[in-house]
Amino acid sequence: MSTMNRRNFLKFTTAAAAATPFLAGKSAFAADEKHIVVIGGGVGGATFAKYMRLYAPEVKVTVIERKKEYQRPYGSSEIIVGNVDMNDITISYDALQKKHGVNFVFDTVTGVDFDKREVSTENGTKITYDRLVVAPGISFDYSGIAGMDTEAAQQAIVHGWDAGDQLLTLQKQLEAVPVDGTVVVVPPPNPYRCPPGPYERAGLITQWLINRGDKNAKVIILDPKNGFTTDVTMLQAWNRLYGFNLPKAFEKNYKPEQVATFTKHETPGKIQWVMAEEGGRVVKVDVAAKTVEAEAGVFKADMINIIPPLKAGKIALDLGLADKSGWCPVDQKTFESTLHPLVHVIGDACIAGEMPKSGYSANSQAKVVALQIKALLAGQPTIEPVLQNTCYALAGQSDYGMFVADVFRLKDGKLKRADQPRYLPFNASTAQYRLSAVYLHAWMDSFTQDIFS
Ligand SMILES: Cc1cc2nc3c(=O)[nH]c(=O)nc-3n(C[C@H](O)[C@H](O)[C@H](O)COP(=O)(O)OP(=O)(O)OC[C@H]3O[C@@H](n4cnc5c(N)ncnc54)[C@H](O)[C@@H]3O)c2cc1C
Repeated sequence: MSTMNRRNFLKFTTAAAAATPFLAGKSAFAADEKHIVVIGGGVGGATFAKYMRLYAPEVKVTVIERKKEYQRPYGSSEIIVGNVDMNDITISYDALQKKHGVNFVFDTVTGVDFDKREVSTENGTKITYDRLVVAPGISFDYSGIAGMDTEAAQQAIVHGWDAGDQLLTLQKQLEAVPVDGTVVVVPPPNPYRCPPGPYERAGLITQWLINRGDKNAKVIILDPKNGFTTDVTMLQAWNRLYGFNLPKAFEKNYKPEQVATFTKHETPGKIQWVMAEEGGRVVKVDVAAKTVEAEAGVFKADMINIIPPLKAGKIALDLGLADKSGWCPVDQKTFESTLHPLVHVIGDACIAGEMPKSGYSANSQAKVVALQIKALLAGQPTIEPVLQNTCYALAGQSDYGMFVADVFRLKDGKLKRADQPRYLPFNASTAQYRLSAVYLHAWMDSFTQDIFS
């Protein structure tokens, strides 16, 4: 979506919200109405609140969210390279409140008394629920990266993986990279939010350096993994756009005739991917010296972006909703926690079988859970869910995109892919990559409207 389109969209949603009668507030609900409380007004929580009210307008829904406006993480790497600004990713909760009658309490949840079914907040408010939906997103775990376990280190080398001001820090750090400098990007291990995201970010940074006029700048990805979602199409795009050479160890993922379609570039590409098998796993970071030590050796950088291992949002960990994996186990049909009854966990924080951690997944789960809770409140049978995900990503140029699309169904009590994931075809034409970018921008626009307007 162009910057202008995003701005117009925000103006439109605010105006639409203002024109709609106010439905929210205690007086809109009878005293015996069921009350669903939602922790977190991000993609999962906000979608759930809206669709719960659409499916069952008689149910009272209260979202407790710590920030007055939402900054969407999806598409947020484009802040770093200046394609969009912070206004473009900031979304108002007005329409959810005024048009859909969702109550909002802007506060931080600090505890839940599961026996009393009562949520408490930092400001001392206590709110009771019939069912609780927990959608707090992610938290970051630096404990396994030597050199990154202090507050000072984490402020110097930021992740920028949860929107917010860290994106502006990364933007400034990129602008300060000297001509023909080196940027190191470190993706996290699985599972993590937005599987193609770190690679899209590396591509965007590469393109930004090229646009600035750098002839010999380098972006090096040091990866703890041997592959990533959309790798086959992303690596092909980089081979065409950035002189990227396919790592030898990755060739086995292609047929020989596919490998033959890759151009072998004489010089190292502007973007390089050091996969785990070739020594990409990071063992130590020296913040002062700006070096990253990986199994393949020590890399000196002008800018370092490390996205550390992720876990469920802190409140989910504090409430004992996560298991030892750091993520929250849930019944795969209703997303009800297997550790605490009457509590449903959705979005990045939950373990949803083969579903990736993405905004699209969180949105799909939220709609299913609204239907399941409606049925449960009415004492009716729950539905057999069908869930979807599509992850879009840019190769670096904002008109060069790709995707993976999936449908998920319950098989033997687990959410599994109904079929093979769908990607761009191998050796897609430039027109097909460009069309995918058009879909990406259109999706971001309509997806945001679906959740927040
Ligand atoms: C760079 C990047 C690009 C991405 N691109 C895509 C993409 O193209 N497509 C896609 O589908 N997904 C994408 N994603 C992933 C997507 O943004 C997330 O998967 C999605 O936001 C998850 O939704 P969620 O509701 O679980 O968490 P969030 O959206 O993070 O929402 C969590 C909310 O909970 C609130 N909260 C947390 N704790 C508390 C508390 N104690 N009290 C009150 N409130 C609390 C937070 O303030 C936040 O508003 C991308 C992510 C990144 C970082």
